[in-house]
Amino acid sequence: MPIKNFTSMIYAPRQSLDDCHSDAIAMTAAYNFESAFDASERFNNRTKGNIYSRFTNPTVSLFEKKVALLEGAEDALAFSSGMSAYLAIAMAFLAQNDHILIANGVFGTTTSLFKTFMTKFGVSMTTFDIHEDLNIEDYIQDNTKLIFIESPTNPVLQVANIEKIGKTAKDKNIIFVVDNTLLTPIFQKPLTLGATLVLHSAGKFFDGQGRCVGGVVAGENKHIEILRTYLRHTGTCLSPFNAWLLAGSIDTLESRMCMHQRIAFVIYEWLVQHPQVQKVYSTFDENHPNRTSILKQQTGHTPIISFEIVGNQDTAWQFIDALGLIENCTNIGGSRSMVTHPASTTHCKYSVEQRERVGINNRLIRLCVGLENEQDLIQDLQQAFEQVEDYQCILKKEGRYA
Ligand SMILES: *Cc1c(COP(=O)(O)O)cnc(C)c1O
Repeated sequence: MPIKNFTSMIYAPRQSLDDCHSDAIAMTAAYNFESAFDASERFNNRTKGNIYSRFTNPTVSLFEKKVALLEGAEDALAFSSGMSAYLAIAMAFLAQNDHILIANGVFGTTTSLFKTFMTKFGVSMTTFDIHEDLNIEDYIQDNTKLIFIESPTNPVLQVANIEKIGKTAKDKNIIFVVDNTLLTPIFQKPLTLGATLVLHSAGKFFDGQGRCVGGVVAGENKHIEILRTYLRHTGTCLSPFNAWLLAGSIDTLESRMCMHQRIAFVIYEWLVQHPQVQKVYSTFDENHPNRTSILKQQTGHTPIISFEIVGNQDTAWQFIDALGLIENCTNIGGSRSMVTHPASTTHCKYSVEQRERVGINNRLIRLCVGLENEQDLIQDLQQAFEQVEDYQCILKKEGRYA
C-alpha cells in the first residue's frame, strides 16, 4: 500500500537503476518477498530466489556466472578470499582420518592451513615434488580424498602435468583441485585437463588492480552445491562490492593477460642476457624442465618472472630499494609491476632447507610484470642494477666490460 504522508526518510521511495550503463551493485543484506507464499517457497527450495546475502546476492552471482563461463564450468561459487575458498573445500569434502596430497611449492599459506589446522581434526597430509616424471600414484593412500596443486607455482614457476594427475585422480575417485590464479582461464582451463575443481585468488589477475581480496571455485554443479551449503552455514561470502569490482574487471581479463604476456616476454629476454642476472625462472624459458606440459596445457604465459641477482641478499635488497617505477609489494596480478624478495617475505617462515627445496635462495627476486611501457620498465630495472654496490666489480668479474 503506497504511503501518502512521509514522516521519516525511511519511507522514501526506492530507486530503480535499470537504465544505468554500468551494472548496479546489489548492496543489500536481504530481499523482499512477493508474498508469504513466495517466502515459504524460497525457504523450502521449491523456487529459486534470493533470501539473504550470506547465501546468494545478484552481484556476487554475476561474478560467479562470468567465472563459470570462462572456466567452462557448470557452476562457480565466490568466497571472501582465496584462502577461504581453500578452507571451504577442505571443510566440505574432508572428514576425520582422511588424507590429502599437496604439491611442494604451492602458495605457502595453503600448506600451513592444512599443517596447522586440518591436522587438529585428524586429517593427514603428504607433500610431493612436481616434476615431469611425477607418478602421483606413488603418494596415494586408501584414505586420500583430495589433491591440491598449483600450476605454474609461485615464485619459481614449476609446472605440473595436470592431465596425468587428473586421470589418476579420476580413476581413484579423488577430488583434484588446481589453483589457476597465475594463468587465469585465458591461458589455462584445468577442468578440460581433468581437474575436479579450479580455484582462484580473485584479487590477483581477476581484479587486476589490487583493489580487493576475493576467491572463487568452479566445477560441476554437484560439487558446487556441497560448497554452497558450507558457505551458507559459515558465512565466508564475498561482499557485493568486491563482486562488483571483480565482475567488471573480468570483462577486460583477456586483453590484460595478452598485454601482460607481451610486456613480460620483452622483460624476460632482457633479463636473460643481463650480466647481473644469474638465473631466470619463467615459463617462457625454452629449456624449462616442464616444457612438454607447458606446451600441452597452457595457451599463454604468466607475467611472473623470478631471477637470481649476482651477489647476495644485500645486493637483492639494494636492487629492490633502488627501483623507482616498479613497486615493492608482495602482491601479484596488478596493472603496476611489483617486485618482492621471497626469502625474507612470503617464504620467511620456511626453513633454509624448505626454501632450497622449492628453489628459493636469498638472491631470488620475484617480478610480476604489470601493464606499463616495456622501455620504461627496462630503464627502471637497469638504473637499479647500476645502483647496487658491487656493480662495477660484478662487471669486471664477468669480463663483460673493460
Ligand atoms: C594469493 C594467492 C592465494 C591466497 O588467496 P587470498 O585471496 O590472498 O586468500 C592462493 N593461491 C595463490 C596462487 C595466490 O597467489
